[in-house]
Amino acid sequence: MKKIRTILIGTHNDGKFKELSYLLPKNLKKISPKKLRIKSPAETGKSFLANSKLKASYFYKNSGIPSISDDSGLSISCLKGRPGIYSARWAKKYGSFKNAMKKIIFMVNKKNYKKKLKNTKATFICSLAVRLSKKKIVSSIGKIEGNISNKILGKKGFGYDPIFVPKSHEITFGQMQKKKKILIDHRFIAYRKLKKKINIF
Ligand code: IMP
Repeated sequence: MKKIRTILIGTHNDGKFKELSYLLPKNLKKISPKKLRIKSPAETGKSFLANSKLKASYFYKNSGIPSISDDSGLSISCLKGRPGIYSARWAKKYGSFKNAMKKIIFMVNKKNYKKKLKNTKATFICSLAVRLSKKKIVSSIGKIEGNISNKILGKKGFGYDPIFVPKSHEITFGQMQKKKKILIDHRFIAYRKLKKKINIF
């Protein structure tokens, strides 16, 4: 497959932009939609996959540049997978990520107490899609399992990082060195799979 030299990282989320920029090859020119004054589309898809494809296609259509987009979020087992694809919308609904995280801890505790459970299982999911041309779009999904902590811990990272403890670790993503988190998380897993499917970077 023909190598590309420029890519638009289709997101207005600074945390995601930084992570994807870090993962993509250094010699690839990275452009942000902010620079081109392209707004984000409405996320009307019913799955991470549908939303990532929708975003990559939208940014490609509006820029003419190969575009990569992710749709990601936190799926909590005892909350029947919520907030899931509504992860960003929950932060808006509750006023901030801090409030949304407080709400999640409260809901998880309540559910566990009511159902006499000890289930704090959660999964971070990321669907990555690259639109290369009108006809070609490639996607992949990455997941990392873990648990919801009982407190908001750590100031590193972004979004829900301070309440997610990845499996086989004892600290949250928010407490973890950024470079370490970037190389184990759901976005990295999706990126690795994507690279195996296409040889464009
Ligand atoms: P969307 O993909 O634009 O719908 O947003 C996904 C939401 O999940 C955002 O609010 C992110 O902050 C959150 N999220 C996705 N990936 C991560 C992550 O790696 N760490 C923390 N929060 C994340």
